[in-house]
Amino acid sequence: MIVGIPKEIKKDEYRIAILPVGAEELVRAGHTVIIEKDAGIGSGLTNEQYLEAGAQLVDSPAAVFAQADMILKVKEPQPEEFPLIRPGQIVFTYFHFAASRELTQGMIDSGSICLAYETLRDRRGTLPLLTPMSEVAGRMSIQEGAKYLEKPQMGQGILLGGVPGVAPAHITILGGGIVGANAAKIAAGFNADVNILDINMDRLRYLDDVMPPNVNVLFSDRHVIRHQLQLADLVIGAVLIPGAKAPMLVSREDLKHMKPGSVIIDVAVDQGGCIETSKPTSHSDPTYLVDDVLHYCVANMPGAVGRTSTFALCNVTLPWALRLANEGIEKSLAASPELLTALNIHSGKVTNQAVAGTFDLPY
Ligand code: NAD
Repeated sequence: MIVGIPKEIKKDEYRIAILPVGAEELVRAGHTVIIEKDAGIGSGLTNEQYLEAGAQLVDSPAAVFAQADMILKVKEPQPEEFPLIRPGQIVFTYFHFAASRELTQGMIDSGSICLAYETLRDRRGTLPLLTPMSEVAGRMSIQEGAKYLEKPQMGQGILLGGVPGVAPAHITILGGGIVGANAAKIAAGFNADVNILDINMDRLRYLDDVMPPNVNVLFSDRHVIRHQLQLADLVIGAVLIPGAKAPMLVSREDLKHMKPGSVIIDVAVDQGGCIETSKPTSHSDPTYLVDDVLHYCVANMPGAVGRTSTFALCNVTLPWALRLANEGIEKSLAASPELLTALNIHSGKVTNQAVAGTFDLPY
């Protein structure tokens, strides 16, 4: 199979979908790997490293898309990439279809076979290709939150951990999954007052067992959320209903009860966001104010720490990419229930119920 890796073109995206070691594994398995020149530079991976691994370099995205049977990417195809995608071509990447009708329609029209990292479910029911980026975004959310709570960044001027004699910041984390748990772990290390809200009691019991004493776990309902918003200096949005648009947990009206200069980091913005006033932003212009509450809604947070994220992502995607390349699409889909869960669109037909439901499309 010919496997193609274009350079990511989403704004401020520095990741690449394959490591040199991954290119070498694919070549060793008898495949051809075509990589767009300089695609790895943002992650500190040079053209020479890919050439040494046996990959071929090409000058343009068009050359990658025209030749490849399977495209490996990081972020969803951008509108200028839509016309390059061919019917029957496999596209294996993050899509987050529920956040964009334009992307969903574009991929239906392309006739391609879209396998989404974020919906691939393993036998244990977890999302192994979303997990590493959620780990990155969760840890990073506290790093960013700490920065934007500083006064020159338009925050309240609060130090997360406080100091002896002065209380630490109150952090409310909506959703205690991978993002939420990683955010809590880092925030706890800062000595902040951390509160995780979730609706899954088993998850809350687990978090209660493993988290340090400055982390409280709370059942998430309207009253608890409203009370937490009054106390919070930093709110992290980290809920997920896989494949579907995020549930909206904080309305515009709720912002009125928050402290001026408090910060919301809506990590779930890639699935539409769990705060009514969230809208996707980029690393070069990450924040905006609504009712004196600072919003940070970068949809590709891990892109800013491209090197860490590229390694973390490629560690988990390579085995699936190898399987797709070795077995071909139909055989691997028939043999692997996990890969079938990644299939969102096949040759013009939506095959993921949540995506179809979001846009009222036939399923
Ligand atoms: P996860 O499935 O591990 O966790 C989600 C949690 O939300 C679950 O524990 C679930 O019980 C909980 N939940 C669902 N509905 C809830 C509600 N009404 N109230 C409280 N909790 C609720 O998911 P994750 O891997 O932690 O991802 C969270 C979000 O972060 C996803 O939307 C994911 O796409 C996003 N994400 C964004 C970035 C970015 O760069 N912005 C990066 C990685 C992940």
